Parts: sequence; C-alpha cells; structure tokens
Amino acid sequence: MTAKLSDARALVLFSGGQDSTTCLAWALTRFAEVETVGFDYGQRHAVELQCRDGIREALSRAGGLGEGRLGPDHLVPIEALGRISETALTREVAIATAESGLPTTFVPGRNLIFLGLAAAVAYRRGCRHIVLGVCETDYSGYPDCRDDTIKAMQVALNLGLETRLVLHTPLMWRDKAETFALADRIGGPDLLRVVIEDSHTCYLGDRSHRHAWGYGCGGCPACRLRADGYERWIRSRSGTAG
Ligand code: ZN
Repeated sequence: MTAKLSDARALVLFSGGQDSTTCLAWALTRFAEVETVGFDYGQRHAVELQCRDGIREALSRAGGLGEGRLGPDHLVPIEALGRISETALTREVAIATAESGLPTTFVPGRNLIFLGLAAAVAYRRGCRHIVLGVCETDYSGYPDCRDDTIKAMQVALNLGLETRLVLHTPLMWRDKAETFALADRIGGPDLLRVVIEDSHTCYLGDRSHRHAWGYGCGGCPACRLRADGYERWIRSRSGTAG
C-alpha cells in the first residue's frame, strides 16, 4: 500500500547550523506545513542541537516566516552512528585532513543514514517533501553530499518505500556567500539576524566569541568557511550597491 503523502507538507533535516536554518526558512516560504527532524548521534558538542529550539522559536514568532506553518520537531537519537564512527566530531581526534583525503570530521555515510531515517519520519507524517542543506560546492568534499548521491537516494527510498518522496537541496550549488544571500532574499534582516545570532556551525562548540558572522572559535574549518562566506557576501553587496 502506498502512503498518503501531502504535497503541502515538508520535513526539513534541521541541525541548527547555518545551512539547515536557511533550508528551513526556504521550506517555510514554499510549503504550508513544515516539520523538522534532527539527529543526536553523540556529537562531541551538542551546542548545535541546543540552538535548534531557539531558531524554531524565532521563526515561529508572530509575523515570522514560520508563523502558523512550523509544525512539530522530531529529535531522533542515533547513538549507534557515533559508536561506529571514529571521527573528530564524536571522538577526541584533531580536525584535519585524513589519509583518505577527507576531513576527519567526516562521519562515513552520515547523510545516507539521516535520509533513511528522515524518509521513515516523512512517510509516517505524510510529508511528500524532504529538504536538506547538503552542498557540493564548498570545500569539504563529503561524497554523501553530492548531487548524484542525493538523486540516487531519492530513487532508492521511493523504491524501498513504494512511494513518491521528493528530496530538495536548495543549497546544492551555492557556496557560503550565496547561502547568506539566499537568507537575505528569503527573510531579509530578520532572517539574517536568526542565522547570525542563533544558528551554530563551529566544530568546537564555541558560543563565547561573537563575530560579524555569528558565534564560533573563528579558527576551525567550519568557522573559517562561514567567516569567508560572510565577508564575500558583504563585499558583493557593497559591489552591487556601488
Ligand atoms: Zn569554530
């Protein structure tokens, strides 16, 4: 039997970072009912997960993008992923490039597992659309973020569930500067404030240092990427204005 999925409903993979916050805002402008799913897999720093509620609240406020549209959040514990992954996010391993050429922050197959679980949640919640903030453009080169991987997963999930889910990746071909620009286009200064003040990307979980682009240590690869994207976005804006 095929599940009854609603075209008006979307499920967003929401970690509390800049990318998934922007994706959540994107979904709120397109779908009448938007739910979120997050995964707790024993990240070394749970700051990102703690930021999720604040972001959801900010977006749900009266007059906000999510007013009347933002539905329940589903937090799925998957401790097993942390246990089977020997990576810098889950163990005390330095963040660097491993012999494989991938950063040590890479959790093998993480997005494949996330998508399988998200599809199960979407199926049960009647959401036709699944939105995730993966991106092929930026430095990291995670193979499970690639466009072909996501397209293949859509086929596999629809075969395996005998249904018609649609996976959306609005950031796939955008770099971080373009992700800031997208947030500006979607929600203007209000959304940018949420992205900068409330979303969290720093690998070290630093919420004590506030920069123009948000909170973070400023030195880890995630902070450097975000800071560089912000600066390039600001420059491109002043270029446009001039
Ligand atoms: Zn950092």
